[in-house]
Amino acid sequence: MRRDQFESFKKFIERLNEESPFYKQKFKISGVSIEDIKSPDDIEKLPFTTKEELRDIYPLGLQAVPDEKVVRIHSSSGTTGKPIIIPYTAQDVDDWAVMMARCYKTAGVTPMDRVQITPGFGLWTAGIGFQAGVEKLGAMAIPIGPGNTEKQLQMMMDLKTTVFTATSSYALVLAEEVAKRGIRSNIHLKKGIIGSERWGEKMRSRIKNELNVDIYDIYGLTEIYGPGISIDCDCHTGLHYWDDYLYFEIINPATEKPVEEGQYGELVITTLKKEGAPLLRYRTRDITRLIPGECPCGLKFPRHDIIVGRTDDMVKVKGVNIYPGQIDELLRDIDGCSSEYQVVIEHINGKDVMKLRVETECRVEKDGVERIIAEHFKRKIGILIETEAVSLGELPRSEKKSKRILDYRYQ
Ligand code: ZN
Repeated sequence: MRRDQFESFKKFIERLNEESPFYKQKFKISGVSIEDIKSPDDIEKLPFTTKEELRDIYPLGLQAVPDEKVVRIHSSSGTTGKPIIIPYTAQDVDDWAVMMARCYKTAGVTPMDRVQITPGFGLWTAGIGFQAGVEKLGAMAIPIGPGNTEKQLQMMMDLKTTVFTATSSYALVLAEEVAKRGIRSNIHLKKGIIGSERWGEKMRSRIKNELNVDIYDIYGLTEIYGPGISIDCDCHTGLHYWDDYLYFEIINPATEKPVEEGQYGELVITTLKKEGAPLLRYRTRDITRLIPGECPCGLKFPRHDIIVGRTDDMVKVKGVNIYPGQIDELLRDIDGCSSEYQVVIEHINGKDVMKLRVETECRVEKDGVERIIAEHFKRKIGILIETEAVSLGELPRSEKKSKRILDYRYQ
């Protein structure tokens, strides 16, 4: 942690202690005094904030400013339980637009671009976040919102849209429609900024190829402003995040202790400047890692890797945490492997045994590829496993990545 970042962290917790009823209470219960936080190592002593806590204080229990300073609220979708309501001050709204404009710049978007915004507007943070960033940058926003593919494509052709923002699933719908209608020569897209869902390499290359665009991953969550807190650059070696606004930690979700540098774990975020709904050590449940070193692009902002999974999908084998996304990534680098795999974990003779079954192309020699997968696994994830190469189409298909892991140990 840089010195100036720690200074702003200190100021942040002092403010929480004075202005946030929610955190005042939390500090009291946890028994930590903010005077005890003298160096970055002490941050570990501070309590986490969880999604459950935010649900429990529905609707506005997180608000840390007087009512007259709140200009807007957004809300998470609330598919499980109560939604989480996040109040924003005018400064929060502006800070978010600044971050979003940085995202566009990092992806090489300029004021000459025309940016079509396909995510939803309203309680959801996506649409308005993308729009505010475009306006801050000085490009032209085309705020269509979701659905209505007919109109979407018409506008895209008539206005010569150069950049679009979308979820990966809607980007795929657009790509397929463009191919089906044979209108690619009338489309002027150069870049796609894709956010909000985890998605595989296959889907990415289909969108890329069908639309002939560069793809940039954008990350964010409603609790922390919304989309726009990080994005990848032209080097595509991880997502740059804005460390003047946000402090990122990676913890082992089971022990709640920080992981070693560069290791995967749960992303924990502190919003250093947020006024309306400040968050201290918020557990995102997203699994990623911080990437050490500087990016070849020269940008000084640090990087995190793509989100490889959720803490709910994690399995622990031989004392090592494994996430489905890590396996996706590993197989991507091995020639002849498809993206389809299945993991079987058993407890045999007092030991964990993990078998990775992978679909491989018929041109590859099965013994050879099995050995290569096992070697890669040992080197990258750290444990010895059994591997089996099977033919294409042999494994069951499932939408959910976590369904690919069959854990028979505790049955
Ligand atoms: Zn970069």
